[in-house]
Amino acid sequence: MDKCTCQMCGLSYQGKAESRKHDSYCKKHLKACVKFDTIYNPEECEAIQNDIKQILSSEKISLHEKALGVEKFFRSCFSQSVRDSGFDLSHCSFLDYCARLLSQKYFNDLLKPYPDVHSQFLQRLLS
Ligand SMILES: [Zn+2]
Repeated sequence: MDKCTCQMCGLSYQGKAESRKHDSYCKKHLKACVKFDTIYNPEECEAIQNDIKQILSSEKISLHEKALGVEKFFRSCFSQSVRDSGFDLSHCSFLDYCARLLSQKYFNDLLKPYPDVHSQFLQRLLS
């Protein structure tokens, strides 16, 4: 039997046992998407996280696009956290999660050289 990858949750599976495991994973993933909005797959998270520094430092990318990029970046971290919790519906909201990340040195340092992007990102979050 061929391995298939679900378009919804990004899980790859093969055979009956894995297919059953996928079904329950996919249901939890879907419920979490309904509650928390977009949850990126692991591959998407990796791509977003690899690109963020380049996006921030590029002179060709507008402030608006950079703020969107930062939002995507934070959402990829949020996606990983929700996935790591086993799609726990009592996981904190995206907004609370962002507040938590922004209080950490790594994320603070990442945005420090780009105060305009930082403030536009915050405006988007709070609007
Ligand atoms: Zn699935």
